[in-house]
Amino acid sequence: MWKRSSLGLLLPLLLNAAGGERFERAQPHMGTLFRITLYADSEPAATQAFEAAFARVAELDAILSDYKDDSEAMRLCRTANTAPVRVSEELFTVLAAARQLSEQTGGAFDVTLGPVIRLWRKHRVPASEELAAASPRCGYRNVVLDPANRTVYLRRPDMLLDFGAIAKGYAADEALRILRIHGITRALVAASGDLAIGDAPPGQSGWRVGIDSFRSPARQYTRILTLRNIAVSTSGDTEQFVESGGNRYSHIVDPHTNLGLTRRIGVSVVARRGIDADSLATALSVLGVERGLRLIDRRSDAAALFVTADGERESSQFREMTQTH
Ligand code: AMP
Ligand code: MG
Repeated sequence: MWKRSSLGLLLPLLLNAAGGERFERAQPHMGTLFRITLYADSEPAATQAFEAAFARVAELDAILSDYKDDSEAMRLCRTANTAPVRVSEELFTVLAAARQLSEQTGGAFDVTLGPVIRLWRKHRVPASEELAAASPRCGYRNVVLDPANRTVYLRRPDMLLDFGAIAKGYAADEALRILRIHGITRALVAASGDLAIGDAPPGQSGWRVGIDSFRSPARQYTRILTLRNIAVSTSGDTEQFVESGGNRYSHIVDPHTNLGLTRRIGVSVVARRGIDADSLATALSVLGVERGLRLIDRRSDAAALFVTADGERESSQFREMTQTH
């Protein structure tokens, strides 16, 4: 009797002191691989948390995807030009965050750029007539948000929302939140370049995160950060681009020219929330180093590292926000 009860008491204590066992699982969502690493007391606890977190990501994909014709966002594009349409909280949250960043960046960030982005996805430089035809279907000011009724009205016909620069960060936040509801706080959610990070692994000050950029030599990182309770996103043209006429056009498009960026830049943003880190990294890529630094230094919840052919620049809060000691 004595032995059993003391063991029963001791074991959870030991597990708690150790902070649990490490588990990792990956699933494809939103056109990329979502990888979750977490510490849990048991395999069943980990499995339950993984399933719930991935289910939440799938749910958000069904709302926000621009690849799925039947996503809520794509249905909205087909119907919201006639009359305002009531939308889910999630869709409204993302549209409102995007709108705010569009205003802060003078339109450098714009989720209504879908018609132009579709042209660039054909892996060639679009003809100027094609861009001219797509352009009137874009513009963040053509999205009318009514927070009181949670409705959206699209002023122009045939608009196309593209959440490629914000959805993954938001989904990473949400996955982390769901893990927490399941009692898991020591976790990292990675959706390729977009990471949401919870408490540190047991006995460590944070999660080691390698920052990649076009300047880093093969299999080497520009920086290795140790992070906890923060989000980090990196945007750049290391993988996705169109090459033509000696130019290299990034998959990130400048809404003022409708052209893919041609000057090479990598931007990593740390922010309290993944939705902000993701969208800011893309927005700052469009703005470039000088304008980007001015914008990020006005925000208390985020910091950035810029990598260009000239070298690296950090915003004034970057060091402090990436310090775990
Ligand atoms: P990211 O990889 O987070 O930088 O996001 C890039 C994706 O966001 C692109 O593949 C497009 O789908 C979309 N995108 C491109 N340019 C912009 C922009 N200026 N504003 C908002 N989204 C954009
Ligand atoms: Mg982004």
